[in-house]
Amino acid sequence: MKENVDVLVIGGGVAGAVAAAHLAALGRSVTLIHKSTGASGYSSGAVDVADSKIDEVPGITDPFDRGYGWLKSAQKIRHKNSYHPYAQCEEQLESLSNALSLLIELTADVSMQRREDGHNHILATQLGTIKRSALVQKSLSCDVATLDSNACVGIVEISGLLGFEAKPVVDMLHWIGQMRTGPSFQVLPIQMSLAPKSGGWRSMVEAAYALDDEQMQNEFVQSLKQALKEVSVKPDQLLFPAVMGFQNPLGILQMIQEATTILSHELLALPFSVPGMRLSKALFSGLSRRQVSCINGKIESYVLQEGKLLSVLMHRAEGQRIELWPKAVILATGRTLAGGIINEGIMNDAIFNLPAWTDQGPVLDKFPLDMTQSLVEAPHELFRLGLACDHQQRPLDQFGELFASNLYAAGSIMKGYDPAKEATGIGVAAVLGFMAADFASTNVFNSSKF
Ligand SMILES: Cc1cc2nc3c(=O)[nH]c(=O)nc-3n(C[C@H](O)[C@H](O)[C@H](O)COP(=O)(O)OP(=O)(O)OC[C@H]3O[C@@H](n4cnc5c(N)ncnc54)[C@H](O)[C@@H]3O)c2cc1C
Repeated sequence: MKENVDVLVIGGGVAGAVAAAHLAALGRSVTLIHKSTGASGYSSGAVDVADSKIDEVPGITDPFDRGYGWLKSAQKIRHKNSYHPYAQCEEQLESLSNALSLLIELTADVSMQRREDGHNHILATQLGTIKRSALVQKSLSCDVATLDSNACVGIVEISGLLGFEAKPVVDMLHWIGQMRTGPSFQVLPIQMSLAPKSGGWRSMVEAAYALDDEQMQNEFVQSLKQALKEVSVKPDQLLFPAVMGFQNPLGILQMIQEATTILSHELLALPFSVPGMRLSKALFSGLSRRQVSCINGKIESYVLQEGKLLSVLMHRAEGQRIELWPKAVILATGRTLAGGIINEGIMNDAIFNLPAWTDQGPVLDKFPLDMTQSLVEAPHELFRLGLACDHQQRPLDQFGELFASNLYAAGSIMKGYDPAKEATGIGVAAVLGFMAADFASTNVFNSSKF
């Protein structure tokens, strides 16, 4: 089968999805191809944009201080680090704000929350640590910095659920709370039993699938009510491991709130993260609402002629082959976790064999550990590697030459930032996806003039 399309987007994480949605809004025809889950699907489900307090040691400063708003924090990064993708954006970072608004619309199924004052939410994780994020799924949106000093927070442990214990979360959160300027809230563990016939859950993902069942939800609420009878203080807030189903987490939390009269949320999760999987699912339902054609499959080969990608041969997971003739292509295949960058002796992107770069130049056959430093907190080249691109996000080959005039990169496949250390992960993926769509759309417009 042979098809024409304005833009082919390769990759279904945040970068690819935002690029495809923005292209559709610009009136371009788009096809998106993706394979297994990438980093977006493993994330905590909260969107990091920039955190001006990221390098500060809690205790020396108040851990519940929000610092600057996320836009101002991103501007600081932009001015301080010329290598960072935010430095490619305009002075006022309009693309970043627009990309986040688009991401909120696209992921309406998880009801992303943004604070009206432009500051980050301060959220508790399932380790009891805290994290500052610009956007957060509503089910996870308990902002611990807004809790009163006399509030009591119950951390709920579900016996039979492997991988989550309340006690370490309580201890850690209590310890962090002690570093707050002024008195902190109280934290206590709540132990609930699982209904005996379910036989336990080996992971949070398994528990979330089980909790999509209505009868299981009712049993869950009954067990919780029983558990609450056994605690001496009635909590004002309940925080659960992130297992409240895939289909309607807010509905389950609402049901809990009605049964207990206690505000209830989930804690941010570690991989394999149920909220990360919900985010991934929400991206695809958002794309389907925008009539973007999404294909599960992989790229088999491509034709490059006179410095331009002419056609791409795709293999659908169900077996069918499609030859696509796009005017432009966006490569948003993520880093090593998603399979965007692979190490076959030389570190390359997996589709076009474009070399991965660090700030020092192409990685080539460098041993990965040689790109790390002995201090954990030091900047590690290994975590900032990716494709080098020109000012229009077009990837360069190992000689620093443009690979194809109509190929654009987006998201974490691009070099120059460490999503974890800099806490700019999904924010960067969204803005680079948004800007790649603008560049590709202009290319399509120019090519149709001739
Ligand atoms: C464990 C973990 C936790 C994180 N937690 C957070 C967090 O809480 N908050 C935050 O803001 N950031 C977090 N980050 C960083 C953030 O998740 C990433 O920076 C961001 O999601 C990258 O998005 P992306 O679209 O560039 O790539 P990805 O989300 O990795 O998407 C890549 C896509 O490309 C597809 N793909 C790859 N190869 C091919 C191919 N050959 N053909 C077709 N498709 C292909 C994959 O299927 C996938 O759909 C975390 C990262 C990790 C690894």
